[in-house]
Amino acid sequence: MKNLSINPGCIACGACQFIAPQVFHVTDISRVKKGVDLQKYEQAIKEAAKQCPVGVIAYKHQSCSGQRQSSDSLQSCSDCKRSKKCRGKRE
Ligand code: SF4
Repeated sequence: MKNLSINPGCIACGACQFIAPQVFHVTDISRVKKGVDLQKYEQAIKEAAKQCPVGVIAYKHQSCSGQRQSSDSLQSCSDCKRSKKCRGKRE
Protein backbone atom coordinates (compact mmCIF):
# COMPACT_ATOMS: atom_id res chain seq x y z
CA MET A 1 0.00 0.00 0.00
CA LYS A 2 1.22 3.51 -0.85
CA ASN A 3 0.01 7.06 -1.42
CA LEU A 4 -2.64 7.04 1.31
CA SER A 5 -4.64 10.26 1.19
CA ILE A 6 -8.00 11.78 2.01
CA ASN A 7 -9.86 13.16 -0.98
CA PRO A 8 -12.09 16.24 -0.64
CA GLY A 9 -15.49 15.52 0.89
CA CYS A 10 -14.63 14.20 4.35
CA ILE A 11 -17.52 14.83 6.75
CA ALA A 12 -15.36 14.29 9.87
CA CYS A 13 -17.47 11.44 11.18
CA GLY A 14 -14.46 9.94 12.97
CA ALA A 15 -14.93 6.37 11.75
CA CYS A 16 -11.44 6.08 10.26
CA GLN A 17 -9.81 7.30 13.47
CA PHE A 18 -11.90 4.85 15.48
CA ILE A 19 -10.83 1.96 13.24
CA ALA A 20 -7.18 2.98 12.76
CA PRO A 21 -6.16 5.55 15.41
CA GLN A 22 -2.47 4.97 14.59
CA VAL A 23 -3.09 6.21 11.05
CA PHE A 24 -5.86 8.83 11.00
CA HIS A 25 -6.39 11.99 13.02
CA VAL A 26 -9.76 13.70 12.66
CA THR A 27 -10.32 17.36 13.49
CA ASP A 28 -12.28 19.46 11.00
CA ILE A 29 -11.40 16.76 8.44
CA SER A 30 -9.46 13.51 8.59
CA ARG A 31 -5.71 13.61 8.05
CA VAL A 32 -3.13 10.88 7.66
CA LYS A 33 -0.54 11.02 10.43
CA LYS A 34 3.00 11.72 9.26
CA GLY A 35 5.48 8.89 9.19
CA VAL A 36 2.91 6.15 9.65
CA ASP A 37 3.91 2.64 8.55
CA LEU A 38 1.28 1.89 5.90
CA GLN A 39 2.29 -1.76 5.58
CA LYS A 40 1.92 -2.37 9.30
CA TYR A 41 -1.62 -0.96 9.42
CA GLU A 42 -2.72 -2.04 5.95
CA GLN A 43 -5.67 -4.14 7.07
CA ALA A 44 -7.00 -1.40 9.35
CA ILE A 45 -6.61 1.19 6.58
CA LYS A 46 -8.51 -1.00 4.14
CA GLU A 47 -11.27 -1.47 6.70
CA ALA A 48 -11.42 2.29 7.33
CA ALA A 49 -11.66 2.94 3.58
CA LYS A 50 -14.44 0.37 3.35
CA GLN A 51 -16.36 1.90 6.25
CA CYS A 52 -15.91 5.55 5.25
CA PRO A 53 -19.48 6.75 4.55
CA VAL A 54 -18.39 9.09 1.75
CA GLY A 55 -15.60 6.96 0.26
CA VAL A 56 -12.84 9.57 0.37
CA ILE A 57 -9.98 7.44 1.73
CA ALA A 58 -7.71 6.69 -1.23
CA TYR A 59 -4.59 4.57 -1.65
CA LYS A 60 -2.70 2.65 -4.28
CA HIS A 61 -1.67 -0.95 -4.22
CA GLN A 62 2.06 -1.35 -3.66
CA SER A 63 2.44 -2.81 -7.14
CA CYS A 64 0.12 -0.40 -8.94
CA SER A 65 1.80 1.32 -11.87
CA GLY A 66 -0.57 4.25 -11.60
CA GLN A 67 -1.61 3.85 -15.22
CA ARG A 68 -5.30 4.07 -15.89
CA GLN A 69 -7.56 2.99 -18.66
CA SER A 70 -9.71 5.94 -17.76
CA SER A 71 -8.64 9.45 -18.75
CA ASP A 72 -9.47 10.63 -15.23
CA SER A 73 -5.98 11.10 -13.85
CA LEU A 74 -7.33 12.03 -10.42
CA GLN A 75 -8.90 8.64 -9.94
CA SER A 76 -7.11 6.75 -7.23
CA CYS A 77 -6.29 3.09 -7.21
CA SER A 78 -8.64 2.41 -4.32
CA ASP A 79 -11.41 3.95 -6.41
CA CYS A 80 -10.52 2.10 -9.59
CA LYS A 81 -10.36 -1.10 -7.59
CA ARG A 82 -14.11 -0.76 -7.39
CA SER A 83 -14.55 0.19 -11.03
CA LYS A 84 -11.86 -2.22 -12.29
CA LYS A 85 -10.18 0.47 -14.39
CA CYS A 86 -6.76 0.08 -12.80
CA ARG A 87 -4.09 -1.60 -14.90
CA GLY A 88 -1.94 -2.15 -11.85
CA LYS A 89 -1.53 -5.58 -10.41
CA ARG A 90 -4.26 -6.10 -7.85
CA GLU A 91 -3.75 -7.62 -4.44
S1 SF4 B 1 -14.36 7.86 7.78
FE1 SF4 B 1 -14.32 9.14 5.92
S2 SF4 B 1 -15.77 10.80 6.34
FE2 SF4 B 1 -15.32 9.81 8.30
S3 SF4 B 1 -13.63 11.07 9.15
FE3 SF4 B 1 -12.70 9.35 8.04
S4 SF4 B 1 -12.29 10.14 5.96
FE4 SF4 B 1 -13.75 11.53 6.95
